[in-house]
Amino acid sequence: MRSRRKKRQREEDAEVEIDAEVKTGEQVETGSGREGVQVEGDRRVPKINVVLDAPKPSPPVWYQLEPMDVAAAQRTRVYRRKGFLSEAAIQRIVQRIRSLDLQPYTNSAVDIVGNRAVHCTSYLHTRDAFARHFPKLRSRVIALAAEANREEQWGWDEIEKSVAVRCAEYHEMDVRGTLPEFKHYDLGSIVTVDIMLEPSPRGGCFQTLEANGKLLTHEFRAGDALVFVAHKYHRVSPVKRGHRRVLVMELWNGIERTCGHRCERPWEDCDFSEP
Ligand SMILES: [Zn+2]
Repeated sequence: MRSRRKKRQREEDAEVEIDAEVKTGEQVETGSGREGVQVEGDRRVPKINVVLDAPKPSPPVWYQLEPMDVAAAQRTRVYRRKGFLSEAAIQRIVQRIRSLDLQPYTNSAVDIVGNRAVHCTSYLHTRDAFARHFPKLRSRVIALAAEANREEQWGWDEIEKSVAVRCAEYHEMDVRGTLPEFKHYDLGSIVTVDIMLEPSPRGGCFQTLEANGKLLTHEFRAGDALVFVAHKYHRVSPVKRGHRRVLVMELWNGIERTCGHRCERPWEDCDFSEP
């Protein structure tokens, strides 16, 4: 049992290694990218310099999928995949994210306490960086969504061929960082995949308001992936100590987006321009 787990771990490491072979063609900076950054809402110039040298994923075959009805979504369960990423894989992913030198943004008033950002979001799909720098992770995430859809019987046909990455986000929270609403959901997406990179030692719990009105706190350890119907209510309780870092990927029935925000146009051209 243990050796099988180790084998799987090695396979995951190997897969991320393949990712690591994608050359960025740029200098790697090792700072967190956060110190000294004043974040003032969604209006900063993304500092990204991605050299497009990796193959694009083959275009998916599109089948029309509808996001789940919001009431029905509340009756679905969160699907947890323990140890989706090894510790070594997490290290490499975080390192690569930092090397991309993306501009972190805040998205709402609660993300800023005093004049300090306590919750920053970096859009990894900006200028196609997610597909180009994390191709293996990207396909594993879509396969995992398909696995959850099958296991939990969410009912989407051909989901693997019918969804694309709407957004891939890197979230960093400090003390008091939170996603406070009890009825927050990812409007317009099919499935959301969260991957824990670094849990906070206190607080920062992933919770869902269940159909019976109870708030459910989900076990979510470093390397775990939680997969859920995007229209299911979810929140993050305030971080009480330390930092919390997660990856969030929303999959939708739409174009794979490369504009540096959470896009709301599944099929049309997007006129978002980086400020
Ligand atoms: Zn857009």
